[in-house]
Amino acid sequence: VSRADRLVVLLEERELDCLLVTNLVNVRYLTGFTGTNGACVVTRDERLFLTDSRYVEQAKQQVSEFERLEASRELLGDLAARLTGRAGFDDAHVSVKAHAALGDKVSDGVELVPAAGLVERLRAVKDEDELRAIRAAAQLADRAYDELRATGLAGRTEREVARSIVRFLEDQGADEVSFPPIVAAGAHGALPHASPRDVEIPRGVLVVMDLGARLDGYCSDCTRTFATGPLEDRVGEGYEVVRRAQEAALGGVRAGAVAQEVDAMAHGLVEAGFGTGFDHGLGHGVGLEVHEGPRLARTAEGSLEAGNVVTVEPGLYVPGEFGVRIEDLVAVTADGREVLTGFPKELVTVDG
Ligand code: ZN
Ligand code: ZN
Repeated sequence: VSRADRLVVLLEERELDCLLVTNLVNVRYLTGFTGTNGACVVTRDERLFLTDSRYVEQAKQQVSEFERLEASRELLGDLAARLTGRAGFDDAHVSVKAHAALGDKVSDGVELVPAAGLVERLRAVKDEDELRAIRAAAQLADRAYDELRATGLAGRTEREVARSIVRFLEDQGADEVSFPPIVAAGAHGALPHASPRDVEIPRGVLVVMDLGARLDGYCSDCTRTFATGPLEDRVGEGYEVVRRAQEAALGGVRAGAVAQEVDAMAHGLVEAGFGTGFDHGLGHGVGLEVHEGPRLARTAEGSLEAGNVVTVEPGLYVPGEFGVRIEDLVAVTADGREVLTGFPKELVTVDG
């Protein structure tokens, strides 16, 4: 069953006659096209892919299951002509201006229906090829941590370490990093989204590092917190609280687990262990994008299902003192889970 066939099932649920797919990540997912101007229209019986003359050759190589049509650079007019009946469009990504233009150009009797999130629902459940790509991307992240353990952190600046991570991942064959790495030492680690500074990493502190690689389009995402020497007791205890919460939450990841409950368990364990918690969700889906569905968060809906790939990343942030975060990537399987991150979670102390 092709991805477009799975999409047709969702169209029927929504009583849509066709779906206009304009978000390029969704276009790639459905058609294989990796260029920067393309869109598709899916109906029960038709799969149309449109791109402009610059990408016709590339589309010939990449797009095999869709009928390929050449359109003007501004695709909208040609797309509008292909829509029929109740036509779903991606109201989360189509601008108000584009929506108005589309409305002007469709034939009489076409009703534009907001239908964001349908392809994203499919993307949340990975197939074997996707799992293979994410596994390989996760192994690159593991290797980056092996390298950081070997080269050490103290005496280097956060920014230099971040740059070395980008270089290393690209040298190891990543398409690119899946996001700019975070390297945050000591009190700076208490900011969950810290940017690396031109500041030397001292000895005797925790360093939060969050990094990922993109490989064949698919992302990995992994956080480890290293020590640069012996720690104050309270800091070492904080690390252990997060490590235990992370392990427990990871154990709660399985098909049927309620997303809100897995999130709540991790928050509860960190709060019970250290008296303070973390302000972000426990995790998020990872795939063609580093943040996608499903989410593990207080406001998340639904349950996990086999094929989901999510992060489990509890943290502890003590303003002015230190931060800890530990993040693994995990695939939900039919009978449990496959942890895709291999790097250990016992506290790693690097001397250099
Ligand atoms: Zn991360
Ligand atoms: Zn993450």
